[in-house]
Amino acid sequence: MNATCPECAATITMPADTLASEIIVCPDCGAELEVISLDPPTLALAPEVEEDWGE
Ligand SMILES: [Zn+2]
Repeated sequence: MNATCPECAATITMPADTLASEIIVCPDCGAELEVISLDPPTLALAPEVEEDWGE
């Protein structure tokens, strides 16, 4: 099951047991992506839920 990263357009192979609304990380750009649909496999940038990116 392949989907396209909305951030960098990389093709991402999703595990066969991926569930809708699951969060996966793009191996290319590291973006967190939410599975918004499985048929067809569609990804969208996940809302940032990190509590603190601060450095
Ligand atoms: Zn990406």
